[in-house]
Amino acid sequence: MTENETLAVFRKHSALLEGHFILSSGLHSDRYVQCALVLQHPRVAEQLCSQLAEQMRHLGAAVVAAPALGGVLVAHEVARALGVRALFTERQEGAMTLRRGFSLNPGELTLVVEDVITTGLSTRETIQCVREAGGKVVGAGALIDRSGGAADLGLPKVALITLKIQNYNPADCPLCQAGIPAVKPGSRTKK
Ligand SMILES: [Zn+2]
Repeated sequence: MTENETLAVFRKHSALLEGHFILSSGLHSDRYVQCALVLQHPRVAEQLCSQLAEQMRHLGAAVVAAPALGGVLVAHEVARALGVRALFTERQEGAMTLRRGFSLNPGELTLVVEDVITTGLSTRETIQCVREAGGKVVGAGALIDRSGGAADLGLPKVALITLKIQNYNPADCPLCQAGIPAVKPGSRTKK
């Protein structure tokens, strides 16, 4: 599947919207990504994540790890495709931690995956968490890298889709200036 075909899957499920959006941060944007809308279809999730898995298979990982909540299904489906186990990290009092009895063997080769890489911050925190638990992180992957590829993780990185999504302060948003009505994605208001 090409990047354009993958984009078409996202658009079909309204997981990639184009228009004028008010993000939860308060910033405005011309595009909005909501991976949960593709991942709600298990067969689509399986198909997308198996492509990600194939691009990372050569790294030889024995574990796939992801930050909860957004990454959990991605880790699960990538791990299914690779025939390895999946685990997730979660925040406890702000710090990314491995809970629920999850553990890594010393030096165990691990992939860290996400649904979306925005700045790479939660991916980096997950990488650090895996390292502290003794794992060796060999690569990072995401369905969408919306940093335009700029997020540097210091590791091999794979994304099915790479986008540079521009965010604007409301005061100097060109879409506001063009008089295009802004919508809050995820709200029930009809566009
Ligand atoms: Zn605007």
